[in-house]
Amino acid sequence: MSKITKENGKLVVPARVTIPFIEGDGVGAEITPVCQLVVNAAVEKAYNGSRKIEWLEVLAGGKAFERTGCWLPEETMQAFREYRVGIKGPLTTPIGGGIRSLNVALRQELDLYVCLRPVRWFSGVVSPVREPQKVDMYIFRENTEDIYAGIEWKAGTPEARKFLQFLTNEMGVKKIRFPETSSFGVKPVSEEGSQRLVRAAIEFALTNRLPSVTLVHKGNIMKFTEGGFKQWGYETAEKEFPAQTFTMPQFEQIKKEAGEEAANQAMAAAISAGKIIIKDVIADAFLQNTLLMPDEYSVIATLNLNGDYISDQLAAMVGGIGIAPGANINYDTGHAIFEATHGTAPNIAGKNQVNPSSLLLSSVMMLEYIGWTEAARAIVRAMEDTFEAGIATPDLARLMPGGQCLPTTGFAQALIDRLVKCR
Ligand code: NAD
Repeated sequence: MSKITKENGKLVVPARVTIPFIEGDGVGAEITPVCQLVVNAAVEKAYNGSRKIEWLEVLAGGKAFERTGCWLPEETMQAFREYRVGIKGPLTTPIGGGIRSLNVALRQELDLYVCLRPVRWFSGVVSPVREPQKVDMYIFRENTEDIYAGIEWKAGTPEARKFLQFLTNEMGVKKIRFPETSSFGVKPVSEEGSQRLVRAAIEFALTNRLPSVTLVHKGNIMKFTEGGFKQWGYETAEKEFPAQTFTMPQFEQIKKEAGEEAANQAMAAAISAGKIIIKDVIADAFLQNTLLMPDEYSVIATLNLNGDYISDQLAAMVGGIGIAPGANINYDTGHAIFEATHGTAPNIAGKNQVNPSSLLLSSVMMLEYIGWTEAARAIVRAMEDTFEAGIATPDLARLMPGGQCLPTTGFAQALIDRLVKCR
């Protein structure tokens, strides 16, 4: 079993690498095997046998519960800790006690603080927007803080009453409209949490030569949490990447001191020098702008809740849930879990109809993450060719004019048939 290690800040990936995987519940049993077939074929095509993935199944979700009585066995956590990079299909949310969400448990345990969602359009896929080719973004969603930290108290409980007393008696809060019947939630947003997220986004933009990083927030309303995120984000760029970035506060400063023309010139000079432009936008305006002028945006850095809304809107703009990939990453330790972003789709499970593209594009992200870019490109090229030819699983093919509908296994084979060597 060959493990990925991290040395001098870089991942070291053996030529025969072990990747732990969770098959997933429901349609997981269909998408996971076909994705592995396509990935294996792409790796073989790209490296002629000199590199190989050894897949190691680990249990979680319904399959784990059936076999071990436990939804998330310790061996599974241990495998992700040890092998560093893994992949998972969708998991049923356990009902009636136990772990609230297996996905949350995995993220928390490995402190996977970035939820990365790339969003691009494939020619041939029907989109609800007029110019989907302009959508090409990478969402860096903060994964560990914000209102998602789970600090909440239900209305009427002793905890909610105690919290209300603290707010009114000790903090002088008088603005709660219906205090006795309110539930409460706390939204922690920290300097370190914001900085590490924005740092990861800027480094990603640098590595992939992308033009801008946009901080998306509601700092106009939530000044210290969302506003703090914006401020710490700009500070991270200016302190840690002074030679590689140009920020909007720097633009504003030049404008104030030397006028608008000088500021515009400084911006133009930064762009032609290949610097990354760091800007910010209020979340509601951002959602509107993504529909009106999506090509204004490249890398997006945002807080947890905003990131949730943004991911789904952007995914819908390029073809929806069956085709949106994702990953949860800790760039400091190197730990990463790539995943299908959709659920277990019980209504189509076992019918050989599910679209494997979400998990497959997540596999592509994984190949890129471990530096096996030639294999990643081969899969993307095959997907481009297949969709362009109007060939897809039922969810997408039924919307394509003259679309050819293939079952999950047939779609995977169509991809394998189209794999070519890519540099
Ligand atoms: P879902 O994503 O499973 O399904 C929503 C709709 O989208 C269904 O009509 C389904 O058929 C369709 N769909 C989803 N993925 C598809 C694909 N790849 N190809 C074609 N059609 C697809 O969401 P749900 O029904 O709300 O949830 C079902 C279960 O999945 C629940 O137990 C939920 O908790 C769980 N869930 C897990 C994850 C995860 O593990 N990441 C995410 C969301 C939901």
